[in-house]
Amino acid sequence: MTQDAQLAEARMRFIFTIRSRGVTDTRVLQAMEKIDRRAFVTGIFADRAYEDMPLPIACGQTISQPSVVALMTEALQVGPRDKVLEIGTGSGYQAAILSQLARRVYTVERHRTLAQGAQSVFDRLGLTNVTAMVTDGSHGLPDLAPFDRIIVTAAAEDPPGPLLAQLRIGGIMMVPVGQSDTVQTLIRVIRREDGYEYEELRAVRFVPLIEGLGQ
Ligand code: SAH
Repeated sequence: MTQDAQLAEARMRFIFTIRSRGVTDTRVLQAMEKIDRRAFVTGIFADRAYEDMPLPIACGQTISQPSVVALMTEALQVGPRDKVLEIGTGSGYQAAILSQLARRVYTVERHRTLAQGAQSVFDRLGLTNVTAMVTDGSHGLPDLAPFDRIIVTAAAEDPPGPLLAQLRIGGIMMVPVGQSDTVQTLIRVIRREDGYEYEELRAVRFVPLIEGLGQ
């Protein structure tokens, strides 16, 4: 088999694995098919981009497990008119998937190297509705609020108050909650007119949300 044929087969198996983890939303599956995870993994781990595993990226961080990206995206129920905020750009992969489903995506990262790396992949792939910014995401992006959807891809001890405040009424936020390095729970928050509704979805494991900017 040629290398191209091998890669194509690996990408088909990749989608099959994601479906087998229970993801059924065709818009999400199409986005996962279209956005090549290999573009977001560099160096020695690039060959493992189609495995359903988190992998190391720069600054001691990780690109999330693709089936977790798919399940979180599905649970976020993103619509084509939505303005979405992601906290924790990392490689940019999750934001790129969201760019296929939303009107506009803002993703924030505390490490400048990661934000710049992600933005250059967005540019290379021609993803014009997603912007990576360097800032401490625990404060959200007050100037651009409210958001229809917010997704936090680092674990917080509690859903950060500023993010709850920046969620539109009727909006949905996904956030892994728990102590760092122990099992965390993925929470879905829905903002109602009279308060917030919390739902526990599943156990997950993310790197911690850290306050302040990185190196
Ligand atoms: N969504 C990423 C994976 C996220 S890993 C992807 O698709 O590849 C979590 C990221 O959150 C790390 O890059 C980490 O640097 C970042 N992070 C942690 N605390 C943060 C904070 N307060 N503000 C912004 N980014 C933060």
